[in-house]
Amino acid sequence: LIQLYVPLNFLGVLYREIRQSLTDIERMFALMHQHREVADAPGALALPPGPASVRFEHVDFAYDAKRPILFDVDFEIPAGSTVAVVGHSGSGKSTLARLLYRFYDVQQGAIRINGHDLRQLGQHSLRAAIGIVPQDTVLFNDTLLYNIQYGRPNASRAEVEAAARAAQLEDFIRELPDGYGTRVGERGLKLSGGEKQRVAIARALLKNPAILIFDEATSALDSKTEKAIQAQIERAAEGRTALVIAHRLSTIMDADEIIVLEAGRIVERGRHAALLARGGTYAQMWLLQQQEEEEAAAPAA
Ligand code: ATP
Repeated sequence: LIQLYVPLNFLGVLYREIRQSLTDIERMFALMHQHREVADAPGALALPPGPASVRFEHVDFAYDAKRPILFDVDFEIPAGSTVAVVGHSGSGKSTLARLLYRFYDVQQGAIRINGHDLRQLGQHSLRAAIGIVPQDTVLFNDTLLYNIQYGRPNASRAEVEAAARAAQLEDFIRELPDGYGTRVGERGLKLSGGEKQRVAIARALLKNPAILIFDEATSALDSKTEKAIQAQIERAAEGRTALVIAHRLSTIMDADEIIVLEAGRIVERGRHAALLARGGTYAQMWLLQQQEEEEAAAPAA
């Protein structure tokens, strides 16, 4: 039995890590069918395709009852608009994304899409309506074509190419000797963070979801890449309902609403200019990031 302890413990850690990450949620669900924490209600509704509004209605949530994480979180993302969430590490930003994908159910309040409580919706149609661009995309050890097509396995080659074009991957792929047949991931070509993110965007766009969750990477980027990401987010979110979990405030300046989370509570909300004028938490975060960027850009003494 003792000999089993280490591998079993390792599996437990692995399971938690996988669950934590939004990276390959769909694949994980396929693999862990039996381990779902949430189940379809009897007679669950299928969410019809089309524009979707998202509403977090006085949501309280805890992974563990002894440690509440979200308190009375209340906001709406009208169909077609973009809401960005900012806040210090651990404030609960990614938890919002996990709840919207219904990885877990809320303890108080409700999350609704077009007025339907997520708990009344069939999980299949819910997950078909949501595309995720995760923080750090894990690529499968397979071709670029496979990795993009994963967003919608029955998509045609022309549709994959259109998604790659929209994610600005076309020039990059054209220059590769094996083009879409290039193997990437573990044993193939290693892609840069920006390239991986564009693969993730192409995957999400191919799925053509009404709702897009964009979980921005935490790692520091140069300002050129940052601008490119901002443009990517805007393009990908066009015509969709988007929840952007932002780490760099400069990428979400144009969001329809910015929500500032502090220890699981919304402490400020509004548009960029209004939040700056208010001189509160957001304005402080903004100043700090500006300083950090200036320091990073300054030539070393
Ligand atoms: P970051 O900016 O660092 O990504 P975040 O604001 O996205 O942080 P969350 O990932 O939402 O933060 O985590 C919020 C809190 O919930 C943290 O204190 C974290 O430790 C806790 N937490 C996250 N996932 C779990 C889990 N599966 N079980 C227990 N606690 C968790």
